[in-house]
Amino acid sequence: MPLIIVTGLPTSGKSTRAQQLHDYLAARIVDSKYRLHLVSDDTLSISRTVYDLSKLPVHERSANSGEKNARASIYGAVKRVLTDKDIVILDGLNYIKGWRYQLHCEAKAVRTPSCILQIGCSVDRAKQVNEERVQNKAQNEGDAQGNGLEPYEPENWDNLVFRYEEPNPMTRWDSPLFTLIWEDDEAQTQKVFDSLWDAIAGDGRKVVKPNQ
Ligand code: ADP
Repeated sequence: MPLIIVTGLPTSGKSTRAQQLHDYLAARIVDSKYRLHLVSDDTLSISRTVYDLSKLPVHERSANSGEKNARASIYGAVKRVLTDKDIVILDGLNYIKGWRYQLHCEAKAVRTPSCILQIGCSVDRAKQVNEERVQNKAQNEGDAQGNGLEPYEPENWDNLVFRYEEPNPMTRWDSPLFTLIWEDDEAQTQKVFDSLWDAIAGDGRKVVKPNQ
């Protein structure tokens, strides 16, 4: 079963949609032979600070070892569970196209499809969410840590938006691509999840050959 790579700007609603997709798929695979997994920075206790280049000396930025180690943990967590009977939702920024390519190849190696769920949200809206979290954290110092509400440092947030590499559905590794935007209501969300299900597990599912 497949790998679903969630991607989008920081604080754009990725975890919210990933959880909705998890609930949707959990209901669809009931009494089937399939298993479902959700992997994210939060499930692996990866801090938002690993993406922060602003604290590193210029010569160390391209080799940001904190982020590389985080990617290695995520890769390991996906690899451990991904088989043709396991659906893995990878909730995260997944903002580097080379990284998405690597994940796509990993899925192909276990002969299971991969797809992208892109979360669309305006930069202003996403920024507002992060700013609210920064303010909340300042007000309840400590309380916002570890419960999924950890904000990004504003400079880190701006930098991640700048570095974000939009998925391109014309490439093998970014397709099929499904999109949900912030404003999408329950009916539209259900429609997108239905199409996603069809592509990865239903009649629309392609046979994956390792040399494709
Ligand atoms: P991310 O995983 O991208 O950092 P979250 O899923 O944690 O973002 O969402 C950030 C905040 O925005 C949360 O407080 C969440 O409740 C809210 N939110 C996310 N998506 C929506 C939406 N489509 N409509 C309204 N509020 C949303």
